[in-house]
Amino acid sequence: MPSISKRVWGALALAVALPLALTSCGGDSGDKIVIGTKFDQPGLGLRSPDGSMSGFDVDVARYIANELGYPEDKIEWKEAPSAQRENLIQNGQVDFIVATYSITDARKEKVDFAGPYLITGQSLLVRADDDEITGEASLQNNKKLCSVAGSTPAQRIKDKYPGVQLQEYETYSECVEALKNGAIDAVSTDEVILAGYAAQQPGVFKIVGEPFSEERYGIGLKKGDSELRSKIDDAIVKMEQDGSWKKAWDDNLGGAGIPAPTPPQPDRN
Ligand code: GLU
Repeated sequence: MPSISKRVWGALALAVALPLALTSCGGDSGDKIVIGTKFDQPGLGLRSPDGSMSGFDVDVARYIANELGYPEDKIEWKEAPSAQRENLIQNGQVDFIVATYSITDARKEKVDFAGPYLITGQSLLVRADDDEITGEASLQNNKKLCSVAGSTPAQRIKDKYPGVQLQEYETYSECVEALKNGAIDAVSTDEVILAGYAAQQPGVFKIVGEPFSEERYGIGLKKGDSELRSKIDDAIVKMEQDGSWKKAWDDNLGGAGIPAPTPPQPDRN
């Protein structure tokens, strides 16, 4: 092609290659790191309409990314709904996930976890004026309960309370909307998540009963990547020791009406 110079071809090749390089998700190859989190859980992982991210999980993820050599402007956030988390990791669409993600044996068959970095427990959210639902036992009385597909709370309800009318939505924000407009009677998931929603709309909802499980939040990553896992564990320990963990809790969930948990030690096994 005599009419097109080498230089033009070079520029064209760059124009094609550059965006590919920038969106590459491998932490080692690209200059960005791709982190999966929730986009609709206030206090934990929330994306505002202007695109800015906030929440305890987001702050934990930011701290870890920075320790790995990726400051804020090198982070690409990807939404990680409950049912898609293992897939996103296995397909290499994210480098790691910080998204209210409980460490379980079933999940460990597909992915590895650093952490735990937070421990909470399953609870119930109802409308503030509800005086019939006082704990998980009262759900058996023909009450409609919402939880999320692919989550440990939904699975626990199916296993332990088969009489409950469980509706599985894709996200907790959809459950909370349905609770508000009366389509369902209660939402069940981890207490910290419920507290985040309750704090966002004061006076509309309340948490009832005591937590009835132990949810240990870990950071999901590719199975077998023990190097990344141990670097993330180191970052968690550092975050807990230098006061950043406590600050992240206070900033994001300090006003949500639940006691501040003790920072846990990573398992490292
Ligand atoms: N921690 C639970 C889980 O990993 C519930 C929260 C969620 O679905 O993100 O399934």
